[in-house]
Amino acid sequence: MCYNYLMKKILLSGVKPTGRPHIGNYFGAMKQFVNLLSSGDFDCYFFIADYHALNFIQNAEEMRQNTLDLAIDYLAIGLDPKKATLFKQSDISAHTELSCIFDTIVTMPYLMRAHAYKDAVAKDKEINVGTFNYPVLMAADILLYDTDVVPVGQDQKQHVEYARDIAQKFNSIFGETFKLPEPLIIEGVATVPGIDGRKMSKSYDNTIPLFASREEIAKAVMSIVTDSGAGIPENVFNIHRLFKDGKELKLFYEKNIGKYKILKEALIEDINAFIEPLRERRVELAKDEKRVIEILKESAVKTNEKANKKLVEVKRAIGVIY
Ligand code: AMP
Repeated sequence: MCYNYLMKKILLSGVKPTGRPHIGNYFGAMKQFVNLLSSGDFDCYFFIADYHALNFIQNAEEMRQNTLDLAIDYLAIGLDPKKATLFKQSDISAHTELSCIFDTIVTMPYLMRAHAYKDAVAKDKEINVGTFNYPVLMAADILLYDTDVVPVGQDQKQHVEYARDIAQKFNSIFGETFKLPEPLIIEGVATVPGIDGRKMSKSYDNTIPLFASREEIAKAVMSIVTDSGAGIPENVFNIHRLFKDGKELKLFYEKNIGKYKILKEALIEDINAFIEPLRERRVELAKDEKRVIEILKESAVKTNEKANKKLVEVKRAIGVIY
């Protein structure tokens, strides 16, 4: 393996097309995608993790729609396909082929330590092999591109650590092949809380969608659970501070102690002011679905070239090609 240190660092991350992204996805990860892309310091890859989503969405029409919607979301937040590679995981078969190779060096007890697996077991859920193997496919997603940096929320930290471990194990068995990626997690937004104070998550049904209408924002904010132990409703404040400067906001909350209606109305205004331009851009982009599909098709050609090159290197290392 030979690195060119004059080249930009490689940044990669993905989102599952499991429904509308929420402000937790945005502040925890997607905002970093936009900032880091515009810094010009990275060669950026953002993908739609449809094979990961298949563990949750098993309906073809829904999968097609969610995938297209997420591609539009990526464009609407400002990911320029001329500057970043935006692609769909299932278009690049090297991801699943590499995952299959990794399966042979990853043990079951090691995967049993994954949080997602342990949670499912604790809840007595029947877990499918796709979910069990999720960290292996994610390691393939990351390692295939010689990724340096993976911007994610706190819930994905362990998965990036799995990718590092798998890279190290592969390198020690077959020789230096993979770079060790680093997670990039921003303090303060590593776990964005939902309207019930728990981590914002589609599976908890406690989200504020990123492209929500004003009515949806108002409905979600009005149902924020207000526990005011110290006089300030923490659940409202902790969402509000994503949209407004902390000091100014604290003063406003101190001035309005106990006045939940005023505080929530201010939050609705601030969220709406932030979301409105994104929502409008999204409406425009959604008018031309053909163009969005075209962008994915074009990037699949370029991305396959890069991924397949790496896969050849891997196949040489394990001795299945001459
Ligand atoms: P997913 O929807 O699971 O594909 O998540 C997409 C990205 O959003 C990942 O980097 C997650 O870590 C991040 N994310 C999801 N929920 C949250 C949250 N509540 N706070 C911060 N980041 C999050």
